[in-house]
Amino acid sequence: MIITVASGKGGTGKTTVAVALAMTLAETERVTLMDADVEEPNAHLFLHPHITKQESFGILIPHVDEQKCKLSGECARVCQFHAIAVLGQHVMVFPELCHGCGSCTLACPEQAIHEEPSPIGTIETGVVENPPMDFMRGTLDVGEASATPMIRELKHRIGVEGITIVDAPPGNSCPVVESMRQSDFVILVTEPTPFGLHDLKSAVQIARGEMNLPAGVVVNRDGIGDDGVDRFCAENSIPIILRIPMDRRIAEAYSDGISLVKAFPEYRNAFLEMYRRIEQEVAA
Ligand code: SF4
Ligand code: SF4
Repeated sequence: MIITVASGKGGTGKTTVAVALAMTLAETERVTLMDADVEEPNAHLFLHPHITKQESFGILIPHVDEQKCKLSGECARVCQFHAIAVLGQHVMVFPELCHGCGSCTLACPEQAIHEEPSPIGTIETGVVENPPMDFMRGTLDVGEASATPMIRELKHRIGVEGITIVDAPPGNSCPVVESMRQSDFVILVTEPTPFGLHDLKSAVQIARGEMNLPAGVVVNRDGIGDDGVDRFCAENSIPIILRIPMDRRIAEAYSDGISLVKAFPEYRNAFLEMYRRIEQEVAA
């Protein structure tokens, strides 16, 4: 089972939910927490994993041999990311936009393109002791923007056994789509405010509209704002699978690096119940 925890914007409690769910399930199940928020991974601050393996991760960037290039423009035509362009008598590659997909190399009729590896970050694996679980995270190098290939690589490493909880990047762009891909269920964390609702709508559009995945909403800081999120979920038949009330003590525990279920063990039952609900939704 792969459960991705996402949110339309940062700061809504996505990592709080991912970590709390992983810690609750790890008491009885084999669990992996995958931190795919590769620009700013922070699940380790709550789980304190022992990192056992650290690998550099890179993508293959195209390089053009100007002697062979006939300026056909085929490479630019196939690039979905506008990372290669014919400008005057030259072909320019923009590495910060390149996803290393290799399409331009395949498309070049003159075999004028070769690829060279370019490191973009680090992938780490390890274990959490209490409760026992596997841990994996990707961290992009500072200034590196190619989150999608790193998330794709992380997702390739998911084993077939047990439950993997994916802490997705915030927002509604390509890296979020990649983190949801092949998930069995998507948890969308939001706040009951007009801003929360605005971003939730985009996240729902991706998870259910584009990816056709079952999804449920966690309302964090319940009690603030208005009933817009509730009405939207009711109108669109999106289950609200958990509510976490606005509670200053939860925010204090978070800022001290203490997970929700460690600070307030009474939340374990709520997370267990949420998981059972997810199992039912997936089975349905
Ligand atoms: S496809 Fe090949 S020949 Fe055509 S512009 Fe690109 S590098 Fe040059
Ligand atoms: S490798 Fe893919 S993303 Fe990069 S320039 Fe070529 S086609 Fe574009």
